Parts: sequence; structure tokens; C-alpha cells
Amino acid sequence: MLGKFFKRLEHDLGAPIEVRGFGSGWFSGFFALLFAVCGFGMVVALRYPGWFSTPELQAVKDWQGFRGMVHVFLLIAYGLSLLSLLLRPRKALGATALVIAVVAALIGGANVQPAETHDWGVFFGIDFFVVNLLATGFMFAPIERMFPHREGQRLFRIEWREDLFYYLISSMMVQLFAFLALAPQAYVNAHTGSWDQFRQWVANLPWAVQFLAAIVLSDLFQYWYHRVFHRVPFLWGFHAVHHSAKAMDWLAGARMHFVEIVLLRGVTSLPLFTLGFAPSVLQAYIGFVYVYSSLLHANLKGDFDGLGHWLATPRFHHWHHGLEDEAIDVNFAIHLPLLDKLFGTFFLPPGRWPQNYGVPEQVPQGYWAQAKYPFVRKIT
Ligand SMILES: [Zn+2]
Ligand SMILES: [Zn+2]
Repeated sequence: MLGKFFKRLEHDLGAPIEVRGFGSGWFSGFFALLFAVCGFGMVVALRYPGWFSTPELQAVKDWQGFRGMVHVFLLIAYGLSLLSLLLRPRKALGATALVIAVVAALIGGANVQPAETHDWGVFFGIDFFVVNLLATGFMFAPIERMFPHREGQRLFRIEWREDLFYYLISSMMVQLFAFLALAPQAYVNAHTGSWDQFRQWVANLPWAVQFLAAIVLSDLFQYWYHRVFHRVPFLWGFHAVHHSAKAMDWLAGARMHFVEIVLLRGVTSLPLFTLGFAPSVLQAYIGFVYVYSSLLHANLKGDFDGLGHWLATPRFHHWHHGLEDEAIDVNFAIHLPLLDKLFGTFFLPPGRWPQNYGVPEQVPQGYWAQAKYPFVRKIT
């Protein structure tokens, strides 16, 4: 029965454009679902602080307006789901949103009190997903509408559901991934006590200097990590998943094999976590890189022929995703094109954009097929 229900919901979410126009109840249903899931996540995070919460986000939940926001979210979810149920012949979207919002209210709603806390050691970070999705989605979706590179591309473009699922998985598992991803730096830190004086020196540098150094060093590590994943055939299988996106927007950057996420974080966090940077510098850099990588993939116009030589822009990274021959193995940096210039991989023809995105090989569609892909593909 549950399977049938999910089929219906999926069917309705992916309804063809003709039956999801304005007034069809599709948008109200979709946003009802979004607000209901976010509201539900927030209520759960408040009720089970030990299970589901990212410690860094405690401050957000302690903020006085947080419960007010939960309340508003659930109200919007109710309103929109009722509207969708009224307008739409198919009821799956609206009904699901309504049920989730009601369950959120039943377990306590905006006034929920923390239940007995369990210390599981592994958090699933629902709140991280919520904050992440809201922060980046509400920032980029309108900007992409106002300044699109590809005019006709819609918010709900091809394979958006797959990419949203990537977003969900990587945000939910952020803590689990972090545990694995932080293993290399934990090892380095445990064996380099003699660096402590140097670390002290770094920690005492001005904040801005530390932040810039964090960008330069992480990008240097990221650059070579990224090149190795393009070069070694077995590793390319993982990275090909990221490159399989045929449409570029803020959400497309989330498409990344979980093995690659863990390894990427393990490698790029090495200089960050082992050289003595102040914790506030680390936090600022991590937040910055989240937003920045969404920006690089975003469907945003602007050639920035001059700036693109000094700072990575959407067009700079879009060339990295280009399908044409000239786009192969160029622009590996995430922040500093200077690295590509130094190592001979810089490519930014004035005013031109790639025609198509993707990879020549057939990467299967869907999260689970792509999770298996690196292990089953034929290495030629
Ligand atoms: Zn790449
Ligand atoms: Zn990318």
C-alpha cells in the first residue's frame, strides 16, 4: 500500500508541464509539501535534539524566532495543501503535505518540548538539510529567474528530483560523512604534536589573513584531488556522476557520489583542520564553500571576461562541465583560476559558453543506479 502511495506521489510530482500550470494546484501542492517537510524536520529537531541535530545549529534553534518560524511554516503548509486539494484533481501532493503537517502538529508543533535525549553519536542532520535548502534555494531560485544564462530553463528542469535527492542525502548524512571525512586530519593531528608552535602562530594571524589562506590552501588540495579523479579511470567512475548533469543550476552541484563526498572532504579539509586555523575561520569557510559551489553551478548569465581570470565564476565552472572537446580537463579550481593557469588547464574563451553539459559515456539515471555505477562500469 505504501509502495502504491509513493508511486502516486512520484507520479504527481513529475506530472508533465501541461498539467502543472498555474492554477492547476501543482505549485501550491509542491510548496505545501516543501513547507510541510521543512516544518516537520524542525519540529523533530526540537523534539529529539540528541538524535537529529547538528551541534553547530544549536544557536539557530536557541534563537527566539525559531519556534515562530516553525509555526508560520506549518500554517503555510496547511493553507497551501488545502488550496491544492481544492484546485487539483489528483490529490496525492496536497494530501501528503497535509498529513505531514498534521503529524508535525501532533508531535508538538511549534511548542514541542524536547523528549528524553538519546546519545547515539551519529546525527542525521535534518535541520541541516532544512537550513541548507532554505538558505541556498531561497537565495538562488529567484536570482536564477532574474538573470538566467539559459532563458527557457525552469526551476523544475530535467532530473531536478534526482538532484534534490542528492541534496537531501548529503545534507542528512553530513554528520556521518563528517566522521569518516575527518579521519585523515584526526590522524595527522594525532601525529604532529611538534607543529603546535606553528599552529599557535597561525591562530594569532588576523582573521582575514587566515580566511584567505584557508581558501588558497583548500583550493590547492581540491585542484589536485579533482585532477586525479579525472585522470585515474576507477576514480573517474565516481566523479562521472557529478559530470552527468545535463542541466546546470544551483541544485546540480549537489549531484555527487557519496564516496567522492567523503574523500573530497577528507582531502580538502586536511590543511584547514591541521594547521591551527581559528574555529570561526573554519566555520566561515565551510559555509562560504557551500554557497560558493551552488553559485558556480547556478544558471546565471554574465560573461565576466576580466573577473573570470581571477575568481571562479559560473561560466568558468560551466566550461568544466561542457560536453565539447575543448572543455575536457579544464578549469579544475573551485575558487582561484590562477591554479589552472599555473598548471596549464585554464580555459575561458571571451564571451563564449559551452553548448551542452554532461559526459560522452552513458551514466545511468537515478540515485541508486548512480551509486552502483563506479563499481559496475567497464573501465576502457
Ligand atoms: Zn570534474
Ligand atoms: Zn561541478
